[in-house]
Amino acid sequence: MAKLTILEFPDPRLRKKAVPVDNVDDELRALIDDMFETMYAAPGIGLAATQVDVHRRLLVADVSADKDDPHVFVNPEILEKDGVTVTEEGCLSVPGYFEEVKRAEHIRVRYLDRAGHECEGEFEGLLAVCVQHEIDHLDGRLFVDYLSEAKRSRIRKKLEKERRQQAAVVA
Ligand code: ZN
Repeated sequence: MAKLTILEFPDPRLRKKAVPVDNVDDELRALIDDMFETMYAAPGIGLAATQVDVHRRLLVADVSADKDDPHVFVNPEILEKDGVTVTEEGCLSVPGYFEEVKRAEHIRVRYLDRAGHECEGEFEGLLAVCVQHEIDHLDGRLFVDYLSEAKRSRIRKKLEKERRQQAAVVA
């Protein structure tokens, strides 16, 4: 297993639209294991393949307190949405920022699991929010896109400045 590098906003690669996975094979399962390792180490509750520069429709999530409830979604598709919930969201690709985002409270999702079996599941609460956030990544969308242009540009400028300072320290 290996920890992967997480892309950070405003990296243009975060804007790529991921393509469907054709085959759930051992290579994909190795990527899934690496994504869990990366997500748990960060630490985060969800990670989309897009965030580690792999542009295939795959995401992992675990919203449990004990990190013992891993979920894998390959080619996830939201079939139904219901209700409204507002959650303070953060993102491993937008480190240090938390903002309120409005999403559906319940979702019904069709996806393949890590064995490649077709599944359908209903999710609510934090896991539903997390899956919607991660599917957005697969479509090249970030949670900051739901904020005002002014707020998004403020976050972008601060992150760019921090990265320049880090680069200066390393150099
Ligand atoms: Zn995110």
